[in-house]
Amino acid sequence: MTELTWGMLRQLTETPAPPGEEGPVRDMIARWIHPHVQSLRIDALGNLIAEKKGQNESPLRIVITAHMDEVALLIFEIDDQGLLHVGRSGGVNLRTLVGKSVLVGPKRLPGVVCLRPPHYAHSASEYRETPDIEDIRIDIGAKDAKAAKNKVKTGQRIVFDTPLQMLGPVQTLDDDDPLPPQGRIAGKAFDDRMGCAALLSLLMADDLPLDITAVFTVQEEIGLRGALAAGLGVQPDLVIVLEGTVCDDLPGPSHEKRFPTTRLGDGPALTQRDGSVVVHPLLLQHFLRQARAHNIPTQFKHPGIGGTDAAGYARWLGMPTGIISTPCRYIHGPAAVAELSDFHHGVALLRHSMTDLPAVLTPSSPQGS
Ligand SMILES: [Zn+2]
Repeated sequence: MTELTWGMLRQLTETPAPPGEEGPVRDMIARWIHPHVQSLRIDALGNLIAEKKGQNESPLRIVITAHMDEVALLIFEIDDQGLLHVGRSGGVNLRTLVGKSVLVGPKRLPGVVCLRPPHYAHSASEYRETPDIEDIRIDIGAKDAKAAKNKVKTGQRIVFDTPLQMLGPVQTLDDDDPLPPQGRIAGKAFDDRMGCAALLSLLMADDLPLDITAVFTVQEEIGLRGALAAGLGVQPDLVIVLEGTVCDDLPGPSHEKRFPTTRLGDGPALTQRDGSVVVHPLLLQHFLRQARAHNIPTQFKHPGIGGTDAAGYARWLGMPTGIISTPCRYIHGPAAVAELSDFHHGVALLRHSMTDLPAVLTPSSPQGS
């Protein structure tokens, strides 16, 4: 079985792919999976669709999917001082923006997110409060508008510039090393490159039990656009969405009774329902049965939070859909943190769930848990 390497995860997370400009990540994934799949195509919207033969033909068209795009900023205006005024492309967490390093435009020019220094705040509230997106500027080192316009254009995208790192005890990893079985990592775009990495792991295995269709989607962060196009194009009978999801297991104010959405290290998160979808109950039961049978730790994602491509497939297209996620702290910001054991357990659960997956939706199959 081919293993995902540290270098692959590093390139996967560090490469920019704002909504609508997923090309560099798509090309990279296509190059890696090419030797392992029977067909590869890119649809008109930019989704990457691969067919992989397993040991058994599947009576159902099974789609396993992850989105390639990440939240980003968009250049709206270039002012007289050569500073960039921006808007959001997806739900960037504004509270994490100021002072961060970013990459601007297709040439990935370095920039810094800036705001008036606290010394010059007009009021105490300006000092304390989260800035409006209209007050944020990006400094690319241009001395005036002309210099800036020679380098960038309105409409170009901006993403965080964050290297992938192993946290905790110093551990030197070479690009060829396999991913460690456990340990915490920090980097950008874990939503949803952790899902892409899980799907890559599945595709690179030579002993997949069933035929699958892998779909790496575009433009999830701006309204599930790729998933809707892919769902209509591929017409799956069953969909499994792989995500990097919210993890807010940090201590809150002492008076606040908190129910974290997920907890780091408690295993992959299974969604029952979120803000926009109820997952297929038989698929959820199947995941839980497989987890129990193979001693894989799992946790339920606290219901009601967030939304994913699953809503595109289940809510809009009526397709049976399940979701398996890697919990990630601080998603939609410059650096998220994930636990590698959660990721590996998610891949293991996915692989084991392949075994009798078609039976899940076949009426004659045992459906009890
Ligand atoms: Zn996502």
